[in-house]
Amino acid sequence: MTLFADYDEIIERISVNQLWDFPGGVHPPQQKALSNQSNIETLPLDKTFYVPIKQHIGVDGRIIVSEGDSILKGQALTASEAPFSVPVHAPTSGIVKKVTEHVSAHPSGIPELSIIIDADGQDTWIPLKPVADYAKTGKSELIERICDAGISGMGGAGFPTHIKSNNTKPLEFLIINGIECEPYISSDDRLMREHAWQIRQGIDILVHILQPRQVIIAVEDNKPEALETMSIACQQKTNYQVVSVPTKYPAGGEKQLVQVLTSREVPSDGLPIDVGCIMYNVGTCYAIADAIVEGKPLIERVVTLTGKGFKSPKNVWARLGTPIQTLLKHGDYDDSTQSSPRFIMGGPMMGFTVTSLLTPIVKISNCILVPADNELPHPDDERACIRCSACSDACPASLLPQQLFWYSKSKELEKAEEYNLFDCIECGACAYVCPSEIPLVHYYRQAKADIRNQREEKERSDKAKIRFEARKARLQKEKEEREEKHRIAAEARKASLNKDGGAAKDKIAAALARAKAKKEALAKKQTQNDALGAPAPESDKTEVASIDEVSTESASSQTSAKTTNETEQAKPVLKSTANESSDITAEEDAEAKAAAKKKRVAAAVAKAKAKKLAAKQIKKENNES
Ligand code: SF4
Ligand code: SF4
Repeated sequence: MTLFADYDEIIERISVNQLWDFPGGVHPPQQKALSNQSNIETLPLDKTFYVPIKQHIGVDGRIIVSEGDSILKGQALTASEAPFSVPVHAPTSGIVKKVTEHVSAHPSGIPELSIIIDADGQDTWIPLKPVADYAKTGKSELIERICDAGISGMGGAGFPTHIKSNNTKPLEFLIINGIECEPYISSDDRLMREHAWQIRQGIDILVHILQPRQVIIAVEDNKPEALETMSIACQQKTNYQVVSVPTKYPAGGEKQLVQVLTSREVPSDGLPIDVGCIMYNVGTCYAIADAIVEGKPLIERVVTLTGKGFKSPKNVWARLGTPIQTLLKHGDYDDSTQSSPRFIMGGPMMGFTVTSLLTPIVKISNCILVPADNELPHPDDERACIRCSACSDACPASLLPQQLFWYSKSKELEKAEEYNLFDCIECGACAYVCPSEIPLVHYYRQAKADIRNQREEKERSDKAKIRFEARKARLQKEKEEREEKHRIAAEARKASLNKDGGAAKDKIAAALARAKAKKEALAKKQTQNDALGAPAPESDKTEVASIDEVSTESASSQTSAKTTNETEQAKPVLKSTANESSDITAEEDAEAKAAAKKKRVAAAVAKAKAKKLAAKQIKKENNES
């Protein structure tokens, strides 16, 4: 499947070596011959190693060894527990002396967590587990092996290789970067010259994983031997093309090399895969072959020792964690060449001055440069900007370095961002051409670090704000739910009471009606008796009195029910079982009241009877007298 219409044109132009160009760029003196004349040497085994637990872009692994542990060469010291985490391994066998902060291989030199190892001198490997046949091994297993071997990009960026290799986007070009355009450095050059076959094995493994349409191995035209060895190593592969790229700095930059080889421009905040390309450094390919074919984790790399401060500039295999003082010794550092000591990790364009000779070699350390006095401009030579715009002409990212410098220096960070500070690849081309010898990249790095700190600070405060708002909303919701629950319960209680009150009223009205009818019947009977001159029977009188009493009580019950209703409404919610039990109690009360009333009526009748008899007796006595 062709992703871009220009695929065929690119293949055609590459086959006749007609490439494209990128804007800007500079041609500093190469100085490669200082170090690229001899084979890579191996450093004698050091006594102490300082292994930082993070040597890549991403997050730290979890430390899985403790102080005092005996360890073997190649043993994992950390475990990768996050996608962007890559483990580090013991560079030799020995004892974990300490887990502590140690000076970092970073421009700031800020101490970072490191594992300090005392070598036992035996240099005993852990049992190695190579993959028997990578071509019959699944993609995900190979990617896991690459991660377990601790491989991250060795060209300078330190991007975790297993993340890049887990690509799911359409891919046309797998580009192998053998450009190494920075002056003085020759580690990749020597690696290609001496280990082209192993680099080719690494490329084969990547092809098996990524399945690109075409492989391009790019080597600068100032490395004819490397071009030849890589061409020989890849000659059997029809879809592998070894390409000679014109020497210009920074042609080895990822975006610049994609543009040179394909004319495609990687978007400002994008990656090469956005234009159908993926890129690996030759050193990374070598490490991949070591991990898969040999089963070895990444514990060493080639480092160039160069500059006129060395009596014997060369390339060496240096174990990760080796302090640079050991490399200085091995390169015969001549302190008489420097009036004030100055040691640069990296090349003259992108490197930084280390703050301590105990700074360790890490996965991205490709060079230790020791310039003699006057060999390179000194940062203290900075003078005022004369607005010559030479920096803009040199910038390969088409930025305005002068403006970036103003805003970075004056800490106007928003303005610096507006001028695309983060598109700056820190190549140093602008600083190289600056007649005022302003260390421009130093200002950009400082500004980027300040912006990152501000972003982290803002992220932390945003998270705290979100947490506070969420809590506030939760409490408000709970309050509203509580109120709603109370409202519903109150309405239910009111409805229940109204229903009970209505039934009681009906019962009382019926009782009153019955009593009234009975009373009328008795009154009628009394009238008839009176007409006949017969006295009313005592039982009728008693009943009338009883009816009157019932009527009075019923009326007062109605009043009482009303009062009860009103009182009940003011009370909190009661459960229905409570209502039922209060109904039962009311019935019992009514029965008790009726019995008491009967008793009172009987007593009144007896009293009236006695009174009547007494009156009769007195009347009789009076008549007789
Ligand atoms: S090259 Fe240097 S002096 Fe010239 S404009 Fe850029 S920063 Fe200023
Ligand atoms: S360091 Fe940044 S601003 Fe300077 S030339 Fe390189 S990309 Fe441009």
